[in-house]
Formats: sequence, C-alpha cells, structure tokens
Amino acid sequence: MVTLNMTPWLTTVWAQLCAHSPPHGLLLCGPEGIGKGVLARHWAQTLLCEDSPAPCQHCPACEWFQAGIHPDFRELVPPVHQVDATPQDTGEWITIDQVRELGDFMMVSAHRQGWKIILIDPADTLNGAAANALLKSLEEPPPRTLFILVTAHMARIPSTLRSRCRIQQVPLPSLGQAGDWLRQQGVDDPEGFLRRAGGAPQRALSQWQKDAEGRRSFLSFFLDSEMPWLQRAEKLANLDQPAWIDWFQYAVMDLILCKLNGRVYYHEDQLAGFQRVASTLSLPDLLTWEQCLRNARRWMAHPLNERLLYESLFYPLQPSVS
Ligand SMILES: [Zn+2]
Repeated sequence: MVTLNMTPWLTTVWAQLCAHSPPHGLLLCGPEGIGKGVLARHWAQTLLCEDSPAPCQHCPACEWFQAGIHPDFRELVPPVHQVDATPQDTGEWITIDQVRELGDFMMVSAHRQGWKIILIDPADTLNGAAANALLKSLEEPPPRTLFILVTAHMARIPSTLRSRCRIQQVPLPSLGQAGDWLRQQGVDDPEGFLRRAGGAPQRALSQWQKDAEGRRSFLSFFLDSEMPWLQRAEKLANLDQPAWIDWFQYAVMDLILCKLNGRVYYHEDQLAGFQRVASTLSLPDLLTWEQCLRNARRWMAHPLNERLLYESLFYPLQPSVS
C-alpha cells in the first residue's frame, strides 16, 4: 500500500489542495501511474475522518472508509472494474444509470453530518450521457457534497464539466526524486524502469513487481531437475515475458560460475538449485549455451516463432541433457 508519507511528489500537491476549502468539484489531472488515485482517496478520507485533521485510521469513519463501506462515500468506476463485478460486467464506460443511482445518495443528508463525497476515477470513462447527467449535479450541487474527478486525459473531459471543477495538476516527479523512491521500494535499476514507464514511478514499481513475478516462474522451471530440458523450454516459451532472455543469460552465467567455483552472482537465494543443475552439465556445454544466448539476442529483433527460438536455445545441450 502506497501512502503519502512515502511519495514526496504527492505531498507537494497535497499542500496545494489543503490551502483551499474544498470546492464542489475537484478535477485531479496528471500522467498515468503517479498516484492521483491515492491522493484522491487520501483527501476523501481526510475530510471524512471524525477524529483528526489527517486520517487517524481508527475512528469509525476511517475504519468504514478502509473497508469500503463508509455511508457518505461513493466511488464510480467502469462496470468491468467494480469490486463486485460479475462476468457480465464487461463495460469499460461509466454509464448514465450509474450516475442516476447517485441521485438518492445526493438527496439525503449525510449520515455522519459531514461531507458526502463522490470519487470518479477515471473520469474520462464517463460516456456522453453520463457526463451530461453528472453536469446537472455539478451545476446545482447539494450542500457539503464534493465530487472528485481523476483523469490522465484532460482532453477527454467535456469542457462543460471542466469549467465547473477546480483543476489540480499532479505533475511527474523529477527523475531523481522518483528514482530515490523506487530505490527505497527495493527496485534495482530504478532509472531503467522509470525510462520504460515514461517517468511515472508507480507504473515503474508495478512493472518491476510484475517482472519479479515472471522471474520467479522462470526460475521454478529452469531449476526443476525433474523436468526434461525440452519440456522446460516449452514452459518458458509460455511465460510470455519480454525480459526472459535477460533472465536466461543471468541463469546460465550463474551455472557457469557455479561450475567454476561453486558460487552464484545473480541468484544468491537459489544457490542450492543452481548447484544441483550445474552438477548435471559440463563446462563446455555451458559455455556453448552461453554463446547461443548471446547469438539469440541478435535474433530477437526478427519475427521468429518464440517456441522455436526457445527450443533452439536448448539444442546444443540435447545430447547430454535430454
Ligand atoms: Zn479517522
């Protein structure tokens, strides 16, 4: 869970938000993957908290908010992203029916005598009719009612809606700031991940996490001595991970190192598995394998069948390991 304490670029925007009393409509906009949703929820919880000027996390309001059941808070998302979505809920647009369902919520007084808050994230998924219906509510807002709209695509928000909201930009953090934060999260090569994520730190973090998961699957097949190599190649081909060639090279380099001096460099937590696999292979085979992988890097740009590529990578080893 990302909190504001850990994301310095959001605390700057937070100070700007707190400098004014809440409007009826706030439009948070900025690039994808920098934490606008986190900021919006933090603000909503702040306004609903009944115990302190920042979310205390232990008053009834904070507990309800965290459980997703605060009676004065509603969240509009496309049907496909609803928490209780069924296989039939495939819609990727917020519909007019969803906006109309807010009618009763807006008409009655707040259950807790404070704010009533409606979060719409992403607001650019309101379809035309839904945006029109929402416009009516924004034109004549009930007292102490706050709409928070979140978007990474300002141009897709109708100008009529935009003109009724206070606009708060959430900028990209500097590369240094984002890189430091990613490093604190344990990301190796944060600059590389940031570059691939267009500078957005939370997107970079989730790509890194996904990468780590794929790498774990890769190692579980790679080190499975019970499985014939060709079958392992097939499993690896099904992983559908663009980074596999890197993992493959690191793994074979560690097998070579293991063969030479019983140690590994890239996979210290998997030393026993590497020692086991290395003991089944000869050093000349491993060196040939490593050379094949380096050659494979050059083929990567060609539209080859990936499975064929995987199998050919194991080919030099077939006589001794199949
Ligand atoms: Zn609280």
